[in-house]
Amino acid sequence: MRIDLHTHSFYSDGTESPAELVDSARAAGLDVIGLVDHDTVAGWEEAARAAQGSGIALVRGMEVTARVGETSVHILGYLFDPQHPWVIAHMAQLAQSRAERAQRIVAKLAADFPITWQRVQEIAGDASVVGRPHIADALVAVGVVPNRSAAFTSLLHAGSPYYVPHLAPQASDVVAGIAEAGGKAVWAHPWASARGDIAPIETFAELAEAGLFGVEVDHRDNPVVRRAGLADIVAREGLACLGSSDYHGTGKPNRLGENTTSREVYECLISDTRVEVVL
Ligand code: AMP
Ligand code: FE
Ligand code: FE
Ligand code: ZN
Repeated sequence: MRIDLHTHSFYSDGTESPAELVDSARAAGLDVIGLVDHDTVAGWEEAARAAQGSGIALVRGMEVTARVGETSVHILGYLFDPQHPWVIAHMAQLAQSRAERAQRIVAKLAADFPITWQRVQEIAGDASVVGRPHIADALVAVGVVPNRSAAFTSLLHAGSPYYVPHLAPQASDVVAGIAEAGGKAVWAHPWASARGDIAPIETFAELAEAGLFGVEVDHRDNPVVRRAGLADIVAREGLACLGSSDYHGTGKPNRLGENTTSREVYECLISDTRVEVVL
């Protein structure tokens, strides 16, 4: 069984519709995919319709941008009740904060580059959360940078003078919120050092205490030489080890199924949750 639990659609910063994502999963020889758009469940319904009876099992979730102190971390929530008050409140706050923050970044950039808020909105299209990837696409469109990745290492990097942060809840509160909503929480790419600082080592124990289910160990942003050490820490905390692609369509080089999760961990993840897998 080939299981890839971390993908994005164009409801956040991926480039495919949920239906296209299901087709891509079939072409990649996968059996199970997880849809985890950033801070939104807007793609859940469409994805369920596309997955039903398709032969691809669908695990629905959301990737939450959180923080540990001032360090940005991503928490994946799976199979929680999308109507739970914590979930509703989180999505509403983030949509507003992201929109305000994206406009502030664009206003700064517009002083030096030919980019407008209207163009970014057009590019974001159906996305229910506007993020730096959409601003990156606008910069690519006017030839300021060759691709999204180049935008992220320069103008849009957290260290750039054009950068503005958005609101982000504490990771332990997010883990507890997901659990309270009947789902399972996974810490995504904890050692993705190229994106910025990484959270301190005590965070594994803190999040385990808050109810964390597992950690993404096999992910291209965790340096390969450090993965065995990461797996040891995860095992010591009694957490599950997962592996995923973090597929964004053409928005990132990550390929579907480049990392996968074992069937044993998958069975455990989907047991006893508020929402079921779509078959
Ligand atoms: P934001 O949430 O607006 O702060 O932007 C972060 C998002 O940008 C995450 O969802 C990542 O998937 C995406 N991202 C980060 N680095 C890159 C990159 N090098 N190329 C494309 N997308 C990226
Ligand atoms: Fe993303
Ligand atoms: Fe992430
Ligand atoms: Zn992701």
